[in-house]
Amino acid sequence: MDTGPGAIGSRAHIIGQLVDYLTYRRECGDRTVEVDRETLAGLEVTVAGKSPAGRTSAPGTPRARRPAPAAPAAVPRNGGNVADCTAALQQIAAEAADCKRCILHRERQQVVPGQGNPLQPDIMFVGEAPGADEDRQGLAFVGRAGQLLTKMIEAMGYTREQVFIANICKCRPPGNRAPALDEMQACLPYLKRQIAIIKPRTIVAMGNIAILGLLNATGITRLRGHWTSFEGIPLMPTWHPAYLLRFPAAKRDSWSDLKKVLAKLGRPVPKPTRPAATAT
Ligand code: URA
Repeated sequence: MDTGPGAIGSRAHIIGQLVDYLTYRRECGDRTVEVDRETLAGLEVTVAGKSPAGRTSAPGTPRARRPAPAAPAAVPRNGGNVADCTAALQQIAAEAADCKRCILHRERQQVVPGQGNPLQPDIMFVGEAPGADEDRQGLAFVGRAGQLLTKMIEAMGYTREQVFIANICKCRPPGNRAPALDEMQACLPYLKRQIAIIKPRTIVAMGNIAILGLLNATGITRLRGHWTSFEGIPLMPTWHPAYLLRFPAAKRDSWSDLKKVLAKLGRPVPKPTRPAATAT
């Protein structure tokens, strides 16, 4: 295990993550970040001095690191057929529904395990964590960001059912704050087991939290558009759809990233569909 100065959970890592998170929120148009007293009190790591924006407030993301959760249960073997994969994923969803590994279970309405093609889809999309709509419906990416993701998937020539859609965290962080490090660490074993079962041909990691969770890396601005891999699976980092809703000009970047995914899969880039002409 890496215990060096930049290791996950180290002070340097947390501060790096903090800077990245603030940058990301600023890119998203936020000018202030709320931190409640309870969160501040729970921070074992004091972020000394001022934030990069010159304020003394700290975002509600980095929290004290808790002991790593127990090793995930062994990946259930499956015969590579839809029924076995579906059963294995249902088992994970059932475990997640009972999960109390972090505080997010307290306010969730539903766990959001993710959904889609369970057997070797061309693409698995990984986002951050459920929002209010997802929490209500128990489905990943069904709110505004989800509607944009649907358009992106369809522009690539797929349906939502043909790909798999999941998040780093399976429960909604209150107030749609970004998940804290310990919450991500608690939840990641579920996603890793899902990936091992589903065996997607490629992964599209959307936004800073997705690359932090899957790659232990920060800086989506720098990493997006460049192939890397997660456990041998080609992984393309790209913008989160929520960012695209705020900055539509960045859709061009996303499309360029998604075209690289199509090229990797040997799929043609579909021609853009135009709205059908209305009869007069
Ligand atoms: N944002 C995410 O990262 N995931 C969702 O499921 C919805 C919004």
